[in-house]
Amino acid sequence: MEQVRQWHLLTSGEVVNLLNADSKNGLSRQEVLKRRLKFGENKLTPKKGESRFLIFLKQFHQPLVYILLFAALGVGFLEEWVEMSVIISVVLINAIIGFIQEVKALKAIQALAKELTANTTVIREGKKTSIKVKDIVIGDIVVLHSGDRVPADLRIITSKELKIDESALTGESLSTDKKNIALEEETIINDRKNSAFASTLVTYGYGLGVVTNIGDKTEIGQINHLIASADILATPLTKKIAHFSKILLWIILSLAALTITAGLLRGQPLENVLLEGVALAVGAIPEGLPAVVTITLAIGVSRMAQKKAIIRKLPAVETLGSTTVICSDKTGTLTQNEMTVQKIYTNNEDIDVEGTGYVPNGRFSCKGQYITNDYSVALTETLKAGLLCNNASLFKKEGYWCIEGDPTEGALITSATKGGFIIDEMNTFFPRLDEIPFESEHQYMATLHKGNATNIMYLKGAVEKIVSACVNVLDNNGNTTTIYYEQIIKAVERYASDGLRVLAFAKKEIAKNRTSITHADTTEQLTFLGLQAMIDPPRAEAVHAVNICHQAGIDVKMITGDHIVTATAIADKLGLRKHNPKETGITGKELDLLNIHQLREIAKKKSVFARVSPHQKLNLVQALQDEGHIVAMTGDGVNDAPALRQANIGIAMGIVGTEVAKETADMILTDDNFATIKSATEEGRNVFDNLLKFITWTIPTNLTEGMVILVASLLGLTLPITPLQILWINMSTAIFLGATLAVEKSEIGLMKRPPRDPKKPLLTAAMFARILWVSTYLVAAIYLVFYYETTHGMGINVSRTICVNLIVFGELFYLFNSRSLHHSPFKLGFFSNKWLIGGVMIMISLQLLLTYAPFMNTLFGTTPIDSKAWGLIIGISTILFLLVELEKFIRNKLK
Ligand code: ATP
Repeated sequence: MEQVRQWHLLTSGEVVNLLNADSKNGLSRQEVLKRRLKFGENKLTPKKGESRFLIFLKQFHQPLVYILLFAALGVGFLEEWVEMSVIISVVLINAIIGFIQEVKALKAIQALAKELTANTTVIREGKKTSIKVKDIVIGDIVVLHSGDRVPADLRIITSKELKIDESALTGESLSTDKKNIALEEETIINDRKNSAFASTLVTYGYGLGVVTNIGDKTEIGQINHLIASADILATPLTKKIAHFSKILLWIILSLAALTITAGLLRGQPLENVLLEGVALAVGAIPEGLPAVVTITLAIGVSRMAQKKAIIRKLPAVETLGSTTVICSDKTGTLTQNEMTVQKIYTNNEDIDVEGTGYVPNGRFSCKGQYITNDYSVALTETLKAGLLCNNASLFKKEGYWCIEGDPTEGALITSATKGGFIIDEMNTFFPRLDEIPFESEHQYMATLHKGNATNIMYLKGAVEKIVSACVNVLDNNGNTTTIYYEQIIKAVERYASDGLRVLAFAKKEIAKNRTSITHADTTEQLTFLGLQAMIDPPRAEAVHAVNICHQAGIDVKMITGDHIVTATAIADKLGLRKHNPKETGITGKELDLLNIHQLREIAKKKSVFARVSPHQKLNLVQALQDEGHIVAMTGDGVNDAPALRQANIGIAMGIVGTEVAKETADMILTDDNFATIKSATEEGRNVFDNLLKFITWTIPTNLTEGMVILVASLLGLTLPITPLQILWINMSTAIFLGATLAVEKSEIGLMKRPPRDPKKPLLTAAMFARILWVSTYLVAAIYLVFYYETTHGMGINVSRTICVNLIVFGELFYLFNSRSLHHSPFKLGFFSNKWLIGGVMIMISLQLLLTYAPFMNTLFGTTPIDSKAWGLIIGISTILFLLVELEKFIRNKLK
């Protein structure tokens, strides 16, 4: 059995034989183990990412760092070695922090990607089994359904309208039809219609294939076309900040030039003025900013992952904070997706079904009377249709009844088993000849089974779809009578208004010589068998989450493929229509009749959209965006991809979602739960808040330092702090104080605020004003203290030491203010951010070292200071703290 071979030139039978495979039953367990040992796992050798060294070097590739390096060169030129080494240390320390953070963030994101390892369905030992893609071996029989990613290279054995998007491999964007045909000549990959290739996506239909190559031996493995993860850490915000840094660079350079010119005009020595220029540049640069942005985003990503929302595209972290509308699926996201059939309707009678969950025990009753073994033909056929036209399986695992596959189908197996049917027996008596798989687009599924006189097609699906194609009804004795549409629709509404999901069942005889069916067979001449209505209770946590979203000014819309009455009943249980209880839902059909302006209006107003097809989902997203909304949209099917791509945040379901949906999405919910979207949105808002907190904290520091130097050089005053001391302040405070804001928990009332308008600038006028007055306060305090100390007999070094401590302690106190943009830190719990308290402790120790350790005194020109000086420092810092709190208080009152 060799791995690489011209498999497409052989017939499927030859391939199966050569690979010692079995197209019906698949491989045995022993055979799988043997093959895994021989050929290894089905994995591609990962392409080497950016080297660590390159990531480290990239830390220096920032405009603000260029200035620092330039400054280091400048002071080196002046032979100011201490200054030079301190500037270089600042650059190095920053680079190391940036490097560690970036590697950590990348690792975290890669680990998340690994967590999402895909599953695939294979036939082994005669049973369909879901396994990890890496566990596939050569000779496995793979079942392909629309939405799947092809797990390895396959030779197609059977197919039904199978279409595969091979753009990942060939660049061809149109899907290719795949069939079990013989290819006579050598063909290029694009034309190998009888083969499917690893990493390509099934966009339609289904099929079976035998694995011919795995891992690096697959076509994709050979060209090593792994999706590059470049730019993984870039978001609109980081780009905005990069842009902001560039502008800042020019401003700082101009101010530095101004300082130097002013100094020179006053006749100061070149060496001094150059040093001042450097000090200004170094002081005004917010060195910590890029690192803190990365840290904050990375913390956001990992917090979201803890809450079961996996971010695939980093910008989503930010966009989540601005989301104004969440469009959610119903089934499984807002509801539990644990279905149990509670009502059956046959022969124009209601039948109650006992039992909960998937446990197949429970009796049937009609008009209060239990139905004994003597089931009517109509009931038998309805249950049989549900069982045969079904791809799920029901089994007992560790004492619990579980299903594999679609919960709707699981519920139907349970109800049929309650009725005494045994699935394996039925499949033997009525072997399946063909299938039209369920696609949300068509809203039904059909299967063809071998019968005695004729073959039989069973159908199940949305009521409107099935009933409209029925011409008669099966009665209790097995005779057909004229169809009574009105009664059927009444029964549907009766069930749906209780929130039950209703499926209709039908059958049709098909000539014995036909072994396949097409969509045309399903549109006419059907015999109606009955309805089965299943409960799918809303998730309790979704009710709460919807309420929180409403409070947060986020509109929640249910966009579902289900019946409008069911959808509306569930919407009411979830409190979706609370603000407008009289509002009626709208169906996809009605949406199609609207012009673009009406669609925008309706999209904005309504909250229940039923029987919506994937293309209507796309139109709805666009309409909402046209109205200025930031839209988060969920999806799971292959056809949801365009809507997910269009939405500002495409959200795929981790459990039931197809690979196509997951790949397009910006975020994946590992628990498929609406409440997780709410939590992620909350975290998104928090990330933004924390960034703002850092910015409003760090800019006054830089502004103060820059202004102190600028004022001194413009007015010809003695510098109250030396360039070296400025470097010390910048380096230590950004690391030990500022960065700790990144782990702040969410603010009180975070989800009571309206969403952030992404078009608005980062800083509001209020924040801007705070930055300005805090900086002015500090500059004024520094000059006053410096003036007072120097004129009251204190040496210049003592006065400067006091000023250095004044800036650091001012920042330290202001850090507590900055923990919340709107509230008092006491409200948050003063010690609730342990990192911050630790950072403050370290910072105080460092300041004591700077002030009292002789080697630091020598290095930085500091001197020990007395308790009176400390009193002054703490006093001024406390006043700053109180003033900021007063400002917040007044602003809150004015609001
Ligand atoms: P949501 O869009 O909220 O997830 P949904 O599951 O009802 O809701 P679809 O999966 O698009 O949406 O299903 C649409 C309709 O098709 C359902 O209301 C049901 O009538 C029918 N249907 C669902 N699953 C099946 C199935 N496995 N076989 C046949 N018909 C189905």
